[in-house]
Amino acid sequence: MKINFDKSNGLIPVIIQDNNSLQVLMLGYMNEEAFEKTKKEGRVTFFSRSKNRLWTKGEESGNFLTVKSMTIDCDQDTLLIKVNPKNVVCHTGSFSCFGEKNCKGFLYELEEKISQRIDEETENSYTYSLYQKGINKIAQKVGEEAVELVIEAKDNNNDLFKNEAADLLFHFLILLKSKNMTLENIEEVLMSRDRKAC
Ligand code: AMP
Ligand code: ZN
Ligand code: ZN
Ligand code: ZN
Repeated sequence: MKINFDKSNGLIPVIIQDNNSLQVLMLGYMNEEAFEKTKKEGRVTFFSRSKNRLWTKGEESGNFLTVKSMTIDCDQDTLLIKVNPKNVVCHTGSFSCFGEKNCKGFLYELEEKISQRIDEETENSYTYSLYQKGINKIAQKVGEEAVELVIEAKDNNNDLFKNEAADLLFHFLILLKSKNMTLENIEEVLMSRDRKAC
């Protein structure tokens, strides 16, 4: 990755974006040293203009930003970093410097959590214990939740309907994982069906 630090007096703006929700979390600046340190450690270090030194986000709060990907813009003077934030990002206590967490994209966060439970063989985890029972059992569970959703669809209790919809999505994610697939794979299929897509 080629970055043009000279163009902006050695400091480039860095947009920090949540890897799951795609929410913009904060904006900071990096000099070359901060960039190299970030690349090496896999967590974000800025150059703080107020502290006038390297500043690893989370150095006091523990709320580090784990780098998932880095992309330079079209003219190599602005960096976009997708991260998994630990806890909140803003020093005011809000999720992002631009406001609170929204629920769009939470499915991806949940997908990641489900994946972790399974890969780390977490004991006492419902997800992992269902996963261990095998694909037939998981698929059966998806079927059951779908039927429960159908039953609630005929009723007028919105809370029950929403809960069954959530159950279905949750078990659907476990089924995807057990088939070694991701939500993104399914989105690709949906997108390819949509002639106007992107
Ligand atoms: P932290 O890096 O989270 O340990 O926070 C250390 C200090 O950096 C805080 O006391 C704030 O002054 C500042 N700070 C932390 N997070 C932010 C942020 N998102 N935007 C601006 N300043 C911040
Ligand atoms: Zn640019
Ligand atoms: Zn802030
Ligand atoms: Zn259910």
